Amino acid sequence: MRLILLGPPGAGKGTQAQRLVRKYGIVQLSTGDMLRAAVKAGTPVGRRVKDIMETGKLCPDDLVVDIVADRIEQPDAGKGFILDGFPRTTAQAQALDRMLAERGLKLDAVIELNVDPAVLCDRIASRNAQAKARGEALRSDDDPEILKRRLEAYWNQTVPLIDYYRSRRVLKTVDGMAPIETVANAVEDALDGAR
Ligand code: AMP
Repeated sequence: MRLILLGPPGAGKGTQAQRLVRKYGIVQLSTGDMLRAAVKAGTPVGRRVKDIMETGKLCPDDLVVDIVADRIEQPDAGKGFILDGFPRTTAQAQALDRMLAERGLKLDAVIELNVDPAVLCDRIASRNAQAKARGEALRSDDDPEILKRRLEAYWNQTVPLIDYYRSRRVLKTVDGMAPIETVANAVEDALDGAR
């Protein structure tokens, strides 16, 4: 199974992806995690994106597309994957279409986690407070000012993908404001209908 989880920062993509990993035995491919690992390791890619990520802007399409193209070639992605945080622009979505077509693969579904923008910042603030209470380090881009820019990037550059995938009849919209369990059930129902 090959899926995309679409939604703004704080929509719960990571949480839902982890559940799908356990249920379907497929891998979660988070471009944010891959880029953060590259920054931490100080690779050439990491050095190129460090400052961009710290400001909450999107990294260049070609760079992110190359990372995903390499990653889906790995043996563990053979059974399927959940793309979390990719694609984020129309150019990335088009590149993904080409990438999949070249390999004779297709997307089973694009799940949009629909959330109310007004409550997102509160939700992220409470997620951060919980992480802090557990003694976990916060992501530097969860700072409120940077988060604002990450949300702007989502509304300006990623929201057009909702129509992109709707017109290709693969979009499933789920209410991301419901409790985690309810969202997970709705995602599963959407996927049952997609297969
Ligand atoms: P995330 O963990 O998905 O919120 O991503 C954190 C940051 O990584 C984003 O704010 C971007 O700077 C960068 N990033 C992650 N995925 C992408 C992508 N598909 N395209 C461009 N930049 C990305």
